[in-house]
Amino acid sequence: MKDTAPIKQHLIDPEICIRCYTCEMTCPIDAIEHDDDNVVVDPDVCDGCMACIPVCPTGSIDEWRVVETPYTLEQQYGWDELPEQEDIVLDAAPGADEALDGAMAALLAEAHAGAGGKPKAPVTAAKPSINLYNLGKPAVAKVIGNHRLTDDPDHDVRHVILDFGAQPMPVLEGQSVGIIPPGEDADGNPHLPRLYSVSSPRDGERSNYNFVSLTVKRDVHEGGGGVCSNYLCDLELGDEVRVTGPFGGTFLMPDDRDAPLLMICTGTGSAPMRAFTMRRQRTGRGAGRMTMFFGARTPDALPYFGPLKKVPADLLEQHLVYSRTEAKEYVQDRMRAEAERVAELLQDARTHVYVCGLKGMEEGVEAAFTSIAESIGEPWGALRDRMRDEGRYHVETY
Ligand code: NAP
Repeated sequence: MKDTAPIKQHLIDPEICIRCYTCEMTCPIDAIEHDDDNVVVDPDVCDGCMACIPVCPTGSIDEWRVVETPYTLEQQYGWDELPEQEDIVLDAAPGADEALDGAMAALLAEAHAGAGGKPKAPVTAAKPSINLYNLGKPAVAKVIGNHRLTDDPDHDVRHVILDFGAQPMPVLEGQSVGIIPPGEDADGNPHLPRLYSVSSPRDGERSNYNFVSLTVKRDVHEGGGGVCSNYLCDLELGDEVRVTGPFGGTFLMPDDRDAPLLMICTGTGSAPMRAFTMRRQRTGRGAGRMTMFFGARTPDALPYFGPLKKVPADLLEQHLVYSRTEAKEYVQDRMRAEAERVAELLQDARTHVYVCGLKGMEEGVEAAFTSIAESIGEPWGALRDRMRDEGRYHVETY
């Protein structure tokens, strides 16, 4: 019999973590720390209080392993990815109940992560580069473009183009970069990076130039939010910007050009969809058509409204929906109206689904998928789980 029961150890997924250090600042007992590479949890200090879970913007904090010997800080600092859960044999002995609770909680926490569980990259996705630049050693890019994308005077969305010059910035469509705003926060600490999806394809905003574009909305909320977004919106040509990343190893497009893509987005959540579309425009069509449900307040508030009109219909089927025109439509309403088309895509084993934008859209999109999937005799939960496990169901909402 073992003299110590297995414990449930709290860990952070280095592949998904964006190194914003919010968890570290939130932890009430200083159990979280970082070096230039990873953010780690001290097993001797962490008491599993969960205070850090809701503040994490990516969900990378919600990782748990049941272990007989906890992973040390040194081991965690050396990881590029989390170790798999090892098989633990629990003894039917005093103390085992507690361990069993921990094991169940760990399994449940994993089952509930992300898009209904642990997301996976598409099988044919290119291998992403991750964490080339960090807070201590950022890339420095030069602003070579800052164009307004929306006519609505109250809705300033910008297309910001950064030139990385000779610094390698191999970023795939669907990945994100961190932007470090200059200056200090209210407590006098330097600002931490904020995350933005790239809206350019892997070979650059301009083909074969080391240019990366971002889609950024000015934050006009009262109360001093939007430090980084407003910094980006106000950038002038020639300004220098400190950049970390790239980040993200799963929200990627398949390299299989025959795979249909179903893209559902709101507002600036269109950034990765633009990158996917440009990639397919540049690499030739294949058989995989792209279908997009894109929601904005009005046509004047829809980023890339003009350029989208020029994308051929046989490459991209567009459903642009507006919530503040007479139509008063959300993306999920149009998905239901186009149930037959969505059902056809769900039945194609090559279809990859991407949902990106406001956190609030998730519930309505899930409900629309549920009724459409049920109409073709597929329980949505099971179908979604299968797609996710096959790297074909992806959600990125904030
Ligand atoms: P927004 O303009 O505020 O909203 C876009 C549309 O979504 C509006 O028509 C809005 O309708 C609608 N909407 C609101 N609640 C909804 C719901 N429950 N279901 C479906 N549609 C809903 O959007 P935004 O300010 O651009 O925000 C986009 C989000 O994308 C942000 O949270 C951003 O963080 C995230 N994002 C951005 C990037 C990036 O790199 N830029 C990448 C990924 C995600 P009403 O307002 O009329 O209700």
